Amino acid sequence: MASAAGRVDLDGKPIKPMTICMIGAGGFIGSHLCEKLMAETPHKVLALDVYNDKIKHLLEPSDGHPWSDRIQFHRLNIKHDSRLEGLIKTSDLTINLAAICTPADYNTRPLDTIYSNFIDALPVVKYCSENNKRLIHFSTCEVYGKTIGSFLPKDSPLRQDPAYYLLKEDDSPCIFGSIEKQRWSYACAKQLIERLIYAEGAENGLEFTIVRPFNWIGPRMDFIPGIDGPSEGVPRVLACFSNNLLRREPLKLVDGGESQRTFVYIKDAIDAVMLMIENPARANGHIFNVGNPNNEVTVRQLGEMMTEVYAKVSGEPKLEQPTIDVSSKEFYGVGYDDSDKRIPDMTIINRQLGWNPKTSLWDLLESTLTYQHRTYAEAIKKAISQPAST
Ligand code: NAD
Ligand code: UDP
Repeated sequence: MASAAGRVDLDGKPIKPMTICMIGAGGFIGSHLCEKLMAETPHKVLALDVYNDKIKHLLEPSDGHPWSDRIQFHRLNIKHDSRLEGLIKTSDLTINLAAICTPADYNTRPLDTIYSNFIDALPVVKYCSENNKRLIHFSTCEVYGKTIGSFLPKDSPLRQDPAYYLLKEDDSPCIFGSIEKQRWSYACAKQLIERLIYAEGAENGLEFTIVRPFNWIGPRMDFIPGIDGPSEGVPRVLACFSNNLLRREPLKLVDGGESQRTFVYIKDAIDAVMLMIENPARANGHIFNVGNPNNEVTVRQLGEMMTEVYAKVSGEPKLEQPTIDVSSKEFYGVGYDDSDKRIPDMTIINRQLGWNPKTSLWDLLESTLTYQHRTYAEAIKKAISQPAST
């Protein structure tokens, strides 16, 4: 459905084809967004990133995809590239996804984390504001930090009251740990760039939308250490647990795996972003939680479910001891801290865009782990059978 004919927005108005400058297009979310835009819309994408491995299948001219003239890759680092302003100027909309966003980096590379999430995003905001261009900026659910309930005694009945844990865009406070807990360098940098964007909207009329993803997961997320990323690298939990399952090692539960998360399937989440892109009148000036409140588990429960699902899709028996506990200091180093619970309030995204996630945790893990097994199982077998080089 790449033709412009007959495409209408939520208010029945025709959607005009647009040019989108997508920064960080080569990452996990960017790759899924590019795929959707190419397959289902007439929009053009200027895809900016330092890497393009995850969107190579969209860029190959030889395949003769119907969209080959609608996606253009620009290999650039937004830290220092004079082409950035021109690319934003020639586009109708800029989407900024670029960031360092793996928790293992927040306490071990806090300077890079703060620069990437705040300083490097500044020119993007400035160029959009000065050139009257619309901006969709990717923030994070982590700006909420810890829940109010986490400060109550463990047995307090108030912990069950949504007033103490539900995360609301226009109401909840942002609660971070002390400065020595460098885990919060990311959340704090994201919060400050959100505040700057909001202020550009209020004082200079910038048309903006801020997205707060709540643990979007699916194929192509991060990397498998030693296969398509560094052996010593620590990706986010989906890739860590996938790596353990592929290598038939126990899954490592940090501090007992007691923290809770809600996971949303990347394809559901991309539908929400599409609604934002194509309904500016409903999305501008808003901050949106994008998550699946129905898919809440502890990290331990996630590990157990992934173990079950992986046994089903791979045909391999489960390990006798599928999980082990590790301390956060051992796993992440000093300065790590954690969000206790993350349930998104859905009122604003329901009201503005009528969006709801569809996919259950079991179903999204089944399709994702099928992909992980198909993509990596052979490479892992080979890597394990080869003696490590000295
Ligand atoms: P990702 O790491 O897969 O993608 C980020 C991309 O940005 C990478 O391809 C990277 O090469 C690129 N990039 C980083 N710095 C750059 C620079 N200086 N110049 C050019 N390109 C640069 O991460 P993702 O999961 O796709 O996340 C995208 C955005 O969403 C990030 O802003 C992240 O903070 C936010 N987010 C994602 C999640 C999630 O659940 N996936 C959760 C919270 C927030
Ligand atoms: N985690 C874990 N084992 C791992 C990787 C992560 O127990 O191998 C935990 C981590 O401590 C956190 C949760 O899983 O409580 C989610 O981590 P992720 O890196 O996906 O990012 P976050 O949701 O914290 O931003």
